[in-house]
Amino acid sequence: MKKTIFLSFLLAFAARLSAQQNANVIIYNGNIATMSRPGEFVQAVAVKDGMVVGIGNSKTILAKFKNSNTQLIDAAGKTVVPGLNDSHIHIIREGLHYNAELRWDGVKTLKRAMEMLKEQAARTPEGVWIKVIGGWNEYQFEEKRQPTIEEINEAVPDKPVFITYLYGKAFLNKKGIEVLKYTKDTKYDGSLVELDDKGNPTGLLHAKQTPKAIYTTLALTTVLTHEERLNSTQQYYHELNRFGLTSAIDAAGGGQNYPDDYGIALELAKQGKLTLRTSYYLFAQVKRREYLDYEKWVHTTQLNKNDNMFLANGYMAEGAGENLVASAADFENFLEPRIELSKDMEADLEPIIRLLVKNHWPFRLHATYGESIERMLDIFEKINKEIPFNGLRWLFDHAETITDSQLQRVKKLGGGIAVQFRMYFQGELYKKMHGEPDHQLPPIRKMLRMGIPVGLGTDATRISTFNPWMSLYWAVTGKTIGGYQFWPVKDVLSRFEALQLYTIGSAWFSGEEKLKGKIEVGQYADLVILNKDYFSIPVDDIRDIHSLLTIVNGKIVYAEETYRSLAPEMPAVIPSWSPVKFYGGYQIK
Ligand SMILES: [Zn+2]
Repeated sequence: MKKTIFLSFLLAFAARLSAQQNANVIIYNGNIATMSRPGEFVQAVAVKDGMVVGIGNSKTILAKFKNSNTQLIDAAGKTVVPGLNDSHIHIIREGLHYNAELRWDGVKTLKRAMEMLKEQAARTPEGVWIKVIGGWNEYQFEEKRQPTIEEINEAVPDKPVFITYLYGKAFLNKKGIEVLKYTKDTKYDGSLVELDDKGNPTGLLHAKQTPKAIYTTLALTTVLTHEERLNSTQQYYHELNRFGLTSAIDAAGGGQNYPDDYGIALELAKQGKLTLRTSYYLFAQVKRREYLDYEKWVHTTQLNKNDNMFLANGYMAEGAGENLVASAADFENFLEPRIELSKDMEADLEPIIRLLVKNHWPFRLHATYGESIERMLDIFEKINKEIPFNGLRWLFDHAETITDSQLQRVKKLGGGIAVQFRMYFQGELYKKMHGEPDHQLPPIRKMLRMGIPVGLGTDATRISTFNPWMSLYWAVTGKTIGGYQFWPVKDVLSRFEALQLYTIGSAWFSGEEKLKGKIEVGQYADLVILNKDYFSIPVDDIRDIHSLLTIVNGKIVYAEETYRSLAPEMPAVIPSWSPVKFYGGYQIK
């Protein structure tokens, strides 16, 4: 009897040993930040079946996990970090449009931006729009100014152009006005179609109480075909992989209808072609119909059901938001004074929150100002008394001017806060409108001190760029894109803290904080070899960081320079005139 037990123990031991010696991938000779504690680095990481199975020094890991089939990747002393996770990005919507957009993200001069516009116009076929949709502002340009409508008309006289600037303004060239047949009678609620002294549209659209003129116009521009959208989504995901992103949480968005506009990502997920783990939220689009939509969805949509064929937690619904009802849309146009939410807000929002809590549906709510958050919290607390939240995952998005007492209330209700670097793009405008802030906006330092879950992200792409390293730069400096010191220096985050918010911090927002965000045994093998050492380079150089090699679920999804031969094959960009084909996405140089 004893002998049999001993034998089976031996067999089990041998099986375990051989199971260990077959890592699919080993990265060795690296400067690997485990992100478990500040300053902890190892040399090697072994990956099997999409999971980290070992970390340690190169010699030990190679001896223990290498066999003849193991793919060995020499990190050559480079820094390796866990894959980044953007906890608030509009990735599904941007996937539908990316290939149709000329992006000025990272462009250093207005001169170059205008050249790109002109070049793109020359190759754009008749009837197709040239559009620049967010991701830029004048402070990134050496000239420190926006283009004028006259310059845009001069650069592109014969094809329609549409350029959006933050949430506040858009430029429509003469040809665009003509194509859309905009006249003095073109009116949008809450927005202004600017007229010249003869009563003709100048081409400038301004958001006042709402950005309706801007986004309704955008919806009238060129839309990609189904096939192009599949390609566009793949290209956009690949571009995000280029900056080390391996997970994204989609905050839904205006014009992003469920389930129709999620269909492209779903199709790719089912084919195993999505190269980021994607969690998404649902956002009712039609004013005064919101309750009906959520009621339908809580009964028909299964949360946390993975639709990605090859990727654990690869594509799944998380809950409701970031907007729950139109009357609670807390518009963040820092070109205009703050707008008081409607008196109907409570009556609209309360039944929806009750419905969600009752059905254990996590939710997120877009909120910019403390004044709005105060009223939202009153509703949450009231419902919590009837139906305890009891650990239900819920969060505020943005929360730039949340107050100390509101933070206490969020903490008490078990909420989290997803923060983004919107002030990197809008700090100068905020100062003009509201004066210089005397504390950190949003108050991340305080959130962390109180133990509130915080995730970092971009809110890309209509205001901010999607490049996560800009957001990390902002978090560790408190500076805007124009170099203005927006936060008191004492509040800036350490590099470790900032990266932690972009990894394990964001993972909380899809309930995956035990599975990803660190390089540790038992975590997802989502890893990035960086071109520069994030932890030691001069702070300004953080903005030049990108990935040399990105691994998702143990599989290489992006590779360049010395690792180029390992890069997966990508389909050619379509349509043939796509700006992405000529410029890519973010302009690094
Ligand atoms: Zn938002």
